[in-house]
Amino acid sequence: MSSFNNCIKFDLDIKEKNIVFKDYFYKMVQMKKHKIYEAELIQPACPYCGSLALLHNGHLITNIRYLTANASHPVTIRLAKQRVRCRDCSRWSMAQSELASKYCSISNASKLKILSALTEDRSMTSIARENNVSVNTVQRVLGSCSHRFLDSYEYLPAHLAFAEFKGVDRQLHFICLDGDSHQVVQILRTRYKKNLLKYFGRFSPQARANVRTVTLDLNFYYQDIVRACSPNAQIVIDRFHMIQMLTRSFNSLRVKVMKTFDKRSRQYQLLKSPWKLYLKKYDELEKIHPRYNWHYKDCLTQAQVVMEGISANTALENSYNLMQSFMQAIETNNTQELKSLITSKDSIGTLMHKTLLTFKYNLKAVLNGAALPDSNGCLEGFNRKIKQSERTAFGYSNFINLLTRIRLEENQYKEKEPNSLLMTA
Ligand SMILES: [Zn+2]
Repeated sequence: MSSFNNCIKFDLDIKEKNIVFKDYFYKMVQMKKHKIYEAELIQPACPYCGSLALLHNGHLITNIRYLTANASHPVTIRLAKQRVRCRDCSRWSMAQSELASKYCSISNASKLKILSALTEDRSMTSIARENNVSVNTVQRVLGSCSHRFLDSYEYLPAHLAFAEFKGVDRQLHFICLDGDSHQVVQILRTRYKKNLLKYFGRFSPQARANVRTVTLDLNFYYQDIVRACSPNAQIVIDRFHMIQMLTRSFNSLRVKVMKTFDKRSRQYQLLKSPWKLYLKKYDELEKIHPRYNWHYKDCLTQAQVVMEGISANTALENSYNLMQSFMQAIETNNTQELKSLITSKDSIGTLMHKTLLTFKYNLKAVLNGAALPDSNGCLEGFNRKIKQSERTAFGYSNFINLLTRIRLEENQYKEKEPNSLLMTA
């Protein structure tokens, strides 16, 4: 083989020996300077009987889009595929190569590059522009590996975390993560009880018995699903969600009390402007150095502000103390203390009372939340990532595309070679 052919093959990183390069030149196509390589694809033998006695009958010329370092100079391989007729079995055949699939004019190398770009947080338009293909091609490459992420029902990890996120059409989708490895177990289109029961019902009893804990927020029917599907699993309410519920109810009580005072009064200002201090842990408040604040026109330390603020109302004071003890108990994994707090009879305002009733109703799961190390933290982080990729794409209208993209952007595929994902169709 000529050194000219070998040189081009080395440059383009093509190893197939049936491809022979003949010529190269520049050509203007649609106001763009295209780099064109001419090559012939040889059919060495009959694919049906292996005979070498072939009758040549012209070529089929296909323009194959190839990788390019400079997106403003697209590279095209003009491949002339030999058409032959076998003298032995008299059947027609045409040469095929690994360069591009049959009936396809995008090279497999480009598809792989597109796929590895899809594992990054980038828009499809930018990927399409870099590879000189249309956005539809990028979507097709995305679609070609979607089947890998559709349902599999063999195995469930020991620690699960349930949550939901907003996706296509502002619908809420269900997401379930492995609590240890932080990998996605499943993303479902809806989060309705019926669908979730159906989904988890498909797993084998052994797989379902493998689940030890399930971490969730206080969504009322997730617990029913866990109880129905994996009776051995312990339900764990996420610590963060518990504290969030408490601080929200405390905040609404604070606003309610605040509004009973005149806007220019000291009490009103003490409850209004330093609202963040009330949500901090009491131990973290500044207790020594006072600071002047022009809202309430006095020089006070942070602890003094909070103490004077809550003294305006007994219910507010009680609920502040309860919230602080609750946070402390969760931090020190003190379940006894937590139990007595939940059953406390102090007057604490209706919303806080309702929150405590909810905890009381789910007492075992709440105590698990304090006692066990599992939490939904990994899921909240993952949801942030999903939100980011949705924003990059200006939203998705196709759920399967969203799902595939989320899974591709997971670290396990980023680090691995994406080659394993591409199915040459
Ligand atoms: Zn033949």
